[in-house]
Amino acid sequence: MPKILDGVAIAAAIKQEVAEQVKVLAAGGVRPGLAAVLVGNVAASQIYVRSKVQTCEELGIFSEMITPPEDITTEAMLDLINALNDREDIDGILIQLPLPKQVDTKALLDAVSPAKDVDGFHPVNAGRLQAGRPALAPCTPAGVIEILKRSGIPISGQNAVVVGRSDIVGKPAAMLLLHQNATVTICHSKTRDLAAETREADILVAAIGRAGFITPEMVKPGATVIDVGINRITDEAEFYKFFKGDAKREAAFAKRGSTIVGDVDPRAFEVAGAYTPVPGGVGPLTIAMLMANTVQAAKMRRGL
Ligand code: NDP
Repeated sequence: MPKILDGVAIAAAIKQEVAEQVKVLAAGGVRPGLAAVLVGNVAASQIYVRSKVQTCEELGIFSEMITPPEDITTEAMLDLINALNDREDIDGILIQLPLPKQVDTKALLDAVSPAKDVDGFHPVNAGRLQAGRPALAPCTPAGVIEILKRSGIPISGQNAVVVGRSDIVGKPAAMLLLHQNATVTICHSKTRDLAAETREADILVAAIGRAGFITPEMVKPGATVIDVGINRITDEAEFYKFFKGDAKREAAFAKRGSTIVGDVDPRAFEVAGAYTPVPGGVGPLTIAMLMANTVQAAKMRRGL
């Protein structure tokens, strides 16, 4: 039976450690603070930001939610970000994506002070990460490394294949695996023979954005499979393709009319030696690492 890598438990352990660090900082009169900027009324974004703010509260981190109107201009957003850059009580600035079309997302991400860039999206942090300098690393890829390390999965010397090369998941995940001495291959939509590449992976990271894309034939038996994908499916035929016979999922799907599936076909997990389930794998780590980054930013800004 493949081992299930329990992201909920690992995230809980990290949050516990963060809460302890927050207590130590509080004893020195420092309270880390996170500003979360949420533009407009995208339901999924609202859920994400609320759970980030709530986790801050649980861990003793100050948080503030800023909700500019949907029609805000780039200039007004830049003013807002600059004001947050200047605030002493704010250590981390998070801009929830996606932003409305009229807003220049890159300009805004570049405007966040690298010292407060707790999402790790600023080019300065991307460069520092690549150069192996202390940096605020993007939360989801950092979470992938935590899952592997805390589950006792060896990384050094292993063949790691990352499918996906986005700036927020694929590329930084590859870089972090490289820093852990994995031999890393990055695949993308132009990769010639994807299955041939993925079958070489001791550690396979799927960050593609396509439901159940990695099939059983693409996985080397015994490999560790990290499924970063979050895809909501509503089509019944697609649901039964992945989850036929899973009574719990079937009941939930009948009730809600949708379910979440990763970028890995659940049947491919049977071939693996260990895997992260969806939900309950990588997802919970993203918020935990955001909290860890906020505390790290608070410490780094004060030279602690
Ligand atoms: P992007 O859409 O930015 O990137 C997707 C990547 O997958 C691209 O590099 C693309 O290649 C590659 N790709 C697409 N189709 C294929 C294909 N047929 N064969 C090989 N590669 C392909 O997505 P993100 O990186 O932002 O997100 C990836 C997934 O992770 C999504 O499911 C997202 O929901 C999830 N996610 C989960 C998070 C979490 O907290 N767990 C956080 C962030 C994302 P190319 O560059 O050539 O186009």
